[in-house]
Amino acid sequence: MNNVRAPHPRVRDIVPYDPKYLPARAMLSANENPDDVPAPVRDAIARAIGEVALNRYPDPLANDLRYALAEAYGLQRGNVLVGNGGDELLLDVLMCWGGPGRTLLNVPPTFSVYAADARLTGTQVVDVARTDDFAIDEEAVLAAVAEHDVDIVVVCSPNNPTGDVARREFVEQLLDATDALVLMDEAYGEFSGQTTLDLLERHRNLVVLHTFSKAYSLAGVRLGFVLAHEQVITELVKVRQPYSVDAVSQAIGLQVTRQRQAFDERIACIVQERERMLEKLRGLPGVEVWPSQANYLFFRVKGHAQGLWQHCYDNGVLIRDFSTGAQTQDCFRVTVATRDQNDQFLACLGTYLQEGEGR
Ligand SMILES: *Cc1c(COP(=O)(O)O)cnc(C)c1O
Repeated sequence: MNNVRAPHPRVRDIVPYDPKYLPARAMLSANENPDDVPAPVRDAIARAIGEVALNRYPDPLANDLRYALAEAYGLQRGNVLVGNGGDELLLDVLMCWGGPGRTLLNVPPTFSVYAADARLTGTQVVDVARTDDFAIDEEAVLAAVAEHDVDIVVVCSPNNPTGDVARREFVEQLLDATDALVLMDEAYGEFSGQTTLDLLERHRNLVVLHTFSKAYSLAGVRLGFVLAHEQVITELVKVRQPYSVDAVSQAIGLQVTRQRQAFDERIACIVQERERMLEKLRGLPGVEVWPSQANYLFFRVKGHAQGLWQHCYDNGVLIRDFSTGAQTQDCFRVTVATRDQNDQFLACLGTYLQEGEGR
């Protein structure tokens, strides 16, 4: 047979995830850390990798790393599950609590992976749109969990791409209002200094997602983890790929977790740069910018956003374009990086706006 039948209808119209991975002088599109891991940590990683048995399968659950993470967050090993990036764990959650006949409550505009995973797993999605200012419509979310038979609620906090943190009182209310799994995606939590993790003690339905990709400079390694009640972890273990976290990644994660204080100063620098950029953007006529608790800023260029992405790219600066999104017309996201790279971006935006005056 020189032919192949169509895949499952669920898959047919899916467009593969495209992060527009293009080389540029200033890579400000993926919220990565601008700096690689600090040299002393890098040395420790090199030594640790040198001792990894490459011929052996890794510990499927990465127990050494789970233990180190549990210690770091004041939990037990049974409260931690490590994955091949946070992205893998998001799919695990959808496979476990989602699926045909099940419902995810989503709060767009937010991280696109949630809706993509829902689609992939045949999970129905109930969208509760954010307000015009991208705040969570708290009453509408609470009404939706009361009205629909919701199995998962996902709240990205700080929200990607808009940068705001969910109000703690709201999260508590939500956890009390439903027995749905409430997934708090705190991939950028290190930049906000806020977490809902302490609510785990009284809420069995809370799952907190973290990643090594952002604050911990390991986007190239693929490591993420969830923190949850042991009962939840036990379920997730059933659906995960047994060897998704390879031995080299486990060794790297362990070193970085042990030396995580080495990242504090850089995180503080990025936060400082974020506030500097926020002020600069606020001072630009025609630009609306939202305060952010993450390592990126979300902004709107009123009226003439078309061409900004290309203008930046032509000048060596890669940003993320949201300008054609349903709720995000004329909006863009820029990662806060080194001072020099941030200045390159600000210069690009400045010249674009100036040229725009003549348009
Ligand atoms: C980056 C990111 C993740 C996880 O990324 P991984 O690289 O797969 O660990 C999860 N959620 C959000 C909102 C993110 O931006």
